[in-house]
Amino acid sequence: MPVRVAVNGFGTIGKRVADAVARQPDMQLVGVAKTRPSFEARLAVEKGYPLFVGGEGRLEAFRAAGLAVEGTADDMLARADVVVDATPERVGREHGAKYAKAHLKAIYQGGEKPEVAELSFSALANYDAARGKSRVRVVSCNTTGLVRAASVLRSRYGVEHWEATLIRRAADPTEVHKGPVNAILPTFDFPSHHTPDAQTIYPDLSLTPTAGVGPTTLMHLHVNHGRLQRPPASTAEVLAAFRATPRFQIFQSWEHVEGTPQVLESARDRATPRGDVMSNVLWEDGLHLQGADLHFFQAIHQESIVVPENIDAIRAMFDLAPDSATSIARTDVALGIRK
Ligand code: NAD
Repeated sequence: MPVRVAVNGFGTIGKRVADAVARQPDMQLVGVAKTRPSFEARLAVEKGYPLFVGGEGRLEAFRAAGLAVEGTADDMLARADVVVDATPERVGREHGAKYAKAHLKAIYQGGEKPEVAELSFSALANYDAARGKSRVRVVSCNTTGLVRAASVLRSRYGVEHWEATLIRRAADPTEVHKGPVNAILPTFDFPSHHTPDAQTIYPDLSLTPTAGVGPTTLMHLHVNHGRLQRPPASTAEVLAAFRATPRFQIFQSWEHVEGTPQVLESARDRATPRGDVMSNVLWEDGLHLQGADLHFFQAIHQESIVVPENIDAIRAMFDLAPDSATSIARTDVALGIRK
């Protein structure tokens, strides 16, 4: 029997997670909930996803728009084994009591505080710890990127200390009311909230991130300097380690990928769903080793990087795979991340 999955909140993350669930042979998408009619609600109907009215939404508004809805979010939850809450940050936590009352397992996103769940999750790092859990939180896009890279470096070389400068995208492409349009804004929280967030997964990770916001909607860019405990032999060795790990994509010099626009253009050329990039993106030219000091850039596609993590979280919570590698491989093949 496939695990029955409901997606509450059908925005940037929710619509991608719904598509990803629909592609998994061991999962069934029982519905998506939206608060109001929109082009995205219409898309759900066109894709054949059962559509429900979430939050304070009104059934009449959907009916007036000619969109067939099957009921309220409560009706959707009654059909599910697990709900992926992809509502805006701080809204998800308000749904906890409702999910518990419906005896549902729940996955929350990185906009919620860690306390909303029993465990913060990133598949390469702590898949086994999520087995059988009822409430799991997938960490935010930037933290997912940092923790994935930490998974590669910690296991092979140990991380003495890591300084990361995060150049964050100002808004998602559809967030037309957000800026800045013509500014780079330093974030004065020090260290940024990514340290405690990454430490929900690796408590002993010595990480000092500083962050700023740039006038772009495409991707985040991390500028990393890690001091390793056991120095690698060469940059080639480190690149091979990243290449051997799922969810890393490394561009070579001759590909002429100068920055985030070409990363996304290459995804569009490959016709990945929505032009999404669910892997951490590194550049060969951007990775340098000086003794124990590793410098590397990585780009993170904020709209999609957490999508495969939500799928693996479901598999872990229902013990659908023998180990993390099997789950990650199943997810990635189903999503076209790997052949
Ligand atoms: P979003 O605003 O794009 O989508 C949220 C959707 O939920 C909207 O369609 C909204 O109408 C709907 N909604 C609001 N209240 C609701 C309710 N009570 N019931 C049902 N639906 C409701 O937000 P998003 O960017 O998808 O973010 C969702 C979560 O994912 C947040 O926790 C966020 O921090 C996290 N996240 C976002 C990104 C990103 O870059 N967009 C990356 C990683 C994690």
